[in-house]
Amino acid sequence: MVEGFSGKAQRTYVLTTIMKVKVNISNFTMCSSSGKEGDNVRTPKPVKSVSEDLLEVAVSFHGHLGPFLALGLKAGLYAVEVLGKEPFETKAVVRTEPRPPRSCFVDGVQITTGCTMGKGNIALKDGEGLSILISRREKRLLLKVKADVLRAAEEVTSKNMERIALSILERSAQDLFEIEEATE
Ligand SMILES: [Zn+2]
Repeated sequence: MVEGFSGKAQRTYVLTTIMKVKVNISNFTMCSSSGKEGDNVRTPKPVKSVSEDLLEVAVSFHGHLGPFLALGLKAGLYAVEVLGKEPFETKAVVRTEPRPPRSCFVDGVQITTGCTMGKGNIALKDGEGLSILISRREKRLLLKVKADVLRAAEEVTSKNMERIALSILERSAQDLFEIEEATE
């Protein structure tokens, strides 16, 4: 995951990253709670629709928590909600600039849908914006990342990257994507 790291150093790096993410989740949810003054000691609410366990798997697979990984997780979770999870029956095509940071999206989709490079049922193609077409049998789902969301994701800095990623995880699919569903 991180070049030049090996063995123990690599494991320590990943564990530290996960711990950092956990701390950030607590901070973020505490800060974002809209309670009145004097009301700020409360249990952090869990990140909507993305469990800490899933986030841990995603960060250890991908290597860091960024906005495009978060968008991929949200797209994949929504696709599973609509199409069900059947990793051998589902196909996904992601269209965007085929390089990081945008291509980080693909890792979030792989983890959540089970469409993987290894099985050959996910493809990354050069295209405008950032969209994913997922199909299972006769059903198709097209998700396009909204222009303002894409712009915000592109503009992150190393300082606010995790905070922006966590804020993406809190938003609804309808808020993040233009959604089209079709049955052939
Ligand atoms: Zn990334």
